Amino acid sequence: MAPGACVVKRLFSGDTRFEAWLLRDRLLHANIVAHVFNQHMQSIVGDVPPDVAGPQVWVDDEDYARAREVLEAFRAERERPGNVGCLRCGEVNPATFELCWKCGGSL
Ligand SMILES: [Zn+2]
Repeated sequence: MAPGACVVKRLFSGDTRFEAWLLRDRLLHANIVAHVFNQHMQSIVGDVPPDVAGPQVWVDDEDYARAREVLEAFRAERERPGNVGCLRCGEVNPATFELCWKCGGSL
């Protein structure tokens, strides 16, 4: 690799360490190496803009496009208000479903 070819980009900036690590885990499953920064900086929030102080996930430039897709899936899953967890098997189902797609249990 040529010098300077390994560029990292900030993919995500979250409120909690937990979120950042969850996302990192997702990225690893997609074979994307992610770096979490600022995970111990919660205590200084207030002195610096939250965007700078919050936990951040960075990825290599070459993985960025793929990482964005993982991030979007991650966000959609967490933010969609209508998702329902199956009481029987724990699978997440869209709120429009009446029966769990996985086990057929009533939602
Ligand atoms: Zn189920």
